Amino acid sequence: MPRHRNITEGNCIVKRGSAGLGLFAIDAFRKGDFVIEYTGEPLSTAQADAKGGKYLFRVDDALTLDGTGREHVARYMNHSCDPNCEAVIEEYPDGEKAVMIYALRDIAPGEELTFDYGAEYVEEFIKPHGCRCAACAGARR
Ligand SMILES: [Zn+2]
Repeated sequence: MPRHRNITEGNCIVKRGSAGLGLFAIDAFRKGDFVIEYTGEPLSTAQADAKGGKYLFRVDDALTLDGTGREHVARYMNHSCDPNCEAVIEEYPDGEKAVMIYALRDIAPGEELTFDYGAEYVEEFIKPHGCRCAACAGARR
């Protein structure tokens, strides 16, 4: 029994998809719905640069979230060049920031949840082996 089998958060479940593990909708989302928070260990920019890794979400010039731990469910979301979700950085009155993922369009039950990781990530981690997102895979056919 694969150990990722029962990782869920809210309306999201981790499953094996076309590009390895991914995050999938359990029930439908409507456009604009909150999907999941991108959680992670808070690191300073210096700490994040020293550590490296694929699950670093740069929030701003001072803060990066490190989603490496398995409890950080949103990091299972794969990149897409034609995503169905977007990451929005929200700032609370006390100045603390959080990364919230919202549905860009209606999403059907069972559909893979994706967002655009941004140019810097794509350049460093995706371009070297080619993008495996559905939009790029379709374009290569
Ligand atoms: Zn792509």
